[in-house]
Amino acid sequence: MAETPRRVAIVTGGARGIGAATARRLAAEGRAVGVVDLNEADAKKTADAIAADGGEAVGIGADVSDADQVAAAVATVAERLGPPVILVNNAGVIRDNLLFKMTEEDWDTVMNVHLRGSFLMSRAAQAHMTKEGFGRIVNLSSSSAQGNRGQANYSAAKAGLQGFTKTLAIELGKFGVTANAVAPGFIETEMTKATAERVGMEFEAFKKAAADSIPVRRTGRPEDIANTIAFLTGEDAGFVSGQVIYVAGGPLD
Ligand code: NAP
Repeated sequence: MAETPRRVAIVTGGARGIGAATARRLAAEGRAVGVVDLNEADAKKTADAIAADGGEAVGIGADVSDADQVAAAVATVAERLGPPVILVNNAGVIRDNLLFKMTEEDWDTVMNVHLRGSFLMSRAAQAHMTKEGFGRIVNLSSSSAQGNRGQANYSAAKAGLQGFTKTLAIELGKFGVTANAVAPGFIETEMTKATAERVGMEFEAFKKAAADSIPVRRTGRPEDIANTIAFLTGEDAGFVSGQVIYVAGGPLD
């Protein structure tokens, strides 16, 4: 097994949920982590928790759907930690509604954060990766990519990220850069809490109902996704590229 060197990673949406767990996990492996989130104070909380555990991190406020803020965030990480060669495009939002009630704003917001955000971040970070001859990009897709009632916008964005991932793998492979997508099923975070509220259920009852239909009979935790991302961004995963890995407690594909 290859030793894990210090490399610089960026995790977007790293203030909480899957992003925070991933930032902490990568830092525990010896990566220096740029934690990017909308709110700088929240991003810094994750960075502080990493530092308290003896790791290295900086917290940066940026909206991943804004090209100027993305360029500034990636430049700040490069300046303060070194060239970012690991990128986890995790920032995400939901604006659920049935199609006939979905507004154009609901559609655009979801497309902008997931698709435009991943595009802008990847375009900025690949400059460092190709120069270094090493890179790992992981995009957060979702089991909803296969269709989910009330999520026409989110499902389209998450399916779009799968095509985006495969194209990055094809274009960047010759530079030592891999790109993969992780597609979580039900993970216990603020996002699934918000969904429970929307359908008028207590979170515990909502989780139990979900667990009953999951083959391993439990819902997922942010660490389940962080573990998979740690593998895909690791030194030993250089021959795994362009794949979509469902981390959902049982088959989807
Ligand atoms: P979460 O708890 O809602 O956290 C998402 C984070 O992204 C928040 O800190 C949020 O900041 C940040 N964010 C939102 N818009 C942003 C923007 N424009 N720029 C920068 N940061 C932004 O979500 P999660 O459940 O951990 O999900 C993480 C990723 O996994 C998402 O891409 C999600 O779609 C995907 N996923 C989650 C599940 C699940 O079951 N939870 C399943 C499949 C896929 P604010 O708090 O300031 O809004």
